[in-house]
Amino acid sequence: MATADRHRTERQGVTLGGEAIHDELDKRAAQVADRVVAWRHRLHRCPELSNREVKTARLVADHLRSLGLDEVRTGIAGHGVVGVLRGGAAGERVVALRADMDALPVQDLCGADFASDVVDADYPGGPFPVSHACGHDCHTAALLGAATVLAGVRDRLPGTVLFVFQPAEEGPPVTEEGGARAMVEAGAFTDPVPTMAFGLHVTPYPKGYVGYRIGNQYGASALVRIVVTGKQTHGSTPWEGIDPMPAVGAVLTGIGQLYRQVSAFAPVTVSIGHVEDVGRFNIVGQTVTLWGTVRCAVESDMALVEQRLRTLAEHSAAAFGATATVEYLQPVPPVRNSGPWVEAGLPTLRRVAGEERVVETGATLGYDDVSEFVSRFGGLYVMLGVQDATLDASGRPVPVPGGRGLVTNHNPHFYADDGTLVTGVRLHAHVAYDHLTGALVPRDGG
Ligand SMILES: [Zn+2]
Ligand SMILES: [Zn+2]
Repeated sequence: MATADRHRTERQGVTLGGEAIHDELDKRAAQVADRVVAWRHRLHRCPELSNREVKTARLVADHLRSLGLDEVRTGIAGHGVVGVLRGGAAGERVVALRADMDALPVQDLCGADFASDVVDADYPGGPFPVSHACGHDCHTAALLGAATVLAGVRDRLPGTVLFVFQPAEEGPPVTEEGGARAMVEAGAFTDPVPTMAFGLHVTPYPKGYVGYRIGNQYGASALVRIVVTGKQTHGSTPWEGIDPMPAVGAVLTGIGQLYRQVSAFAPVTVSIGHVEDVGRFNIVGQTVTLWGTVRCAVESDMALVEQRLRTLAEHSAAAFGATATVEYLQPVPPVRNSGPWVEAGLPTLRRVAGEERVVETGATLGYDDVSEFVSRFGGLYVMLGVQDATLDASGRPVPVPGGRGLVTNHNPHFYADDGTLVTGVRLHAHVAYDHLTGALVPRDGG
């Protein structure tokens, strides 16, 4: 047979075999769906903060072991777990499917009967109420389901699947290391090296919709800590000391003007979410610490914004006789989907979610350190809609009448519909299979 003919026949073989196995993946996903919901509820009831994912990692590792994977590696960069499934068919590709496992210091007001009442009394800066207000319980449960599905067809997988359960996506305490980059640095991806990374995030979008964006899906991020220092004194004699509080007021007000110093066409946000002082009603305290986050839609704006914020803080403090130090911690690169990878992935996404439910979304200034994987190994990151919503004429999500409304991630009322989890399972399974067969690879690099 001529090479071209053989090539064509092989491609047809892949396609024909692919259709059959895609149906089987869906069937197996439907079979595991109830277990996925049960895992999700269990994880939701028992949320753990970044770098404290002890019970979550144990549940994950126990299940992966029960599937008879080739390897289950634990304790990676804290509580990270990587399951290795080597397929029985010939193939060299390696797909890393990633789920994040950590929860947030947010009260759980989602209203479900599996809501969390966990309080972490020992966490630095705590005690904190803890909840899965970012939906990582859904991500973890869906990937456990996908591991079950793919382990069931292992003899027909032409390559290797890595099930990557990542700790500390939301950022560890500032005195600790952790997260995606720490997993890379711990050598989690040296043997075998992925040829694709895939991740998804639940989001306030119509149920079952898959959103993607070519270019930066999420922004670049850094944590900022500003310490304004004055001179402590009695509250009745402020002139004997230096009050850091007015300087803090000037910094907070001045941040509102930073937007006018960078292009309005590349959005930037600076939010100070936590202010910590050491004073008392009758003590002018020595220091006030501001904790916040800087986000830039375009990564190259980060240095400029950081410099402007530093100048603002130092000079505002000086105007009141105080001093300020500014530190940037936990930098995370933007999540970027390349055009060739998106083009390669769209047929898979459309097969899973349905043509009309795969939509292009705008960029957001959220972050996800899955970018550490996607930017190193190539791959895709998509949004999965999980709320009672529909799209208006301009493509924006709006609440459905009588539904639970639109609630953003990190809000105490954030919720995710159980019925959407099986779509997450199928996305992982189909993306993995299609990449291993060579159906989902970028045509010209990526
Ligand atoms: Zn989050
Ligand atoms: Zn998240």
